[in-house]
Amino acid sequence: MVRTYRFSIKTKGNNDMHDITPFVEEAVVNSTMLYGIAVVFVVGSTAAITTIEYEPGLQKDMETAMERIAPKDAFYAHEARWGDDNGHSHIRASLVGPSIVVPFTEKKLALGTWQQIVLIDFDTHPRSRTILVQTMGE
Ligand code: ZN
Repeated sequence: MVRTYRFSIKTKGNNDMHDITPFVEEAVVNSTMLYGIAVVFVVGSTAAITTIEYEPGLQKDMETAMERIAPKDAFYAHEARWGDDNGHSHIRASLVGPSIVVPFTEKKLALGTWQQIVLIDFDTHPRSRTILVQTMGE
């Protein structure tokens, strides 16, 4: 069986991180499946989905790490070509990735206690993000 759920989140951009675990848990419960996997996917090329311990220290650390890997002020051919300002946003989003797969058993996601599913918006301005949760199982 496959079920698809969608929800939207308003973000501030610039590494804005949101705990979306409750939305995924709700999708699994509503799916009526006991065992399976949940695919969590964000639509768009400047946001990403991953897991992290959701606390302010790591939110800041993630921002710092991203600034090392793809600095905002570096040269980006994307910006030269399109005249926009979010080359770093695209690179960060691609590296972290747009989706994850989380298994569930007896309707419970196989997450650790200090492991939350997060959306990170790397774009340079506020956005409304559509997130898709697709459950597959029985
Ligand atoms: Zn762009």
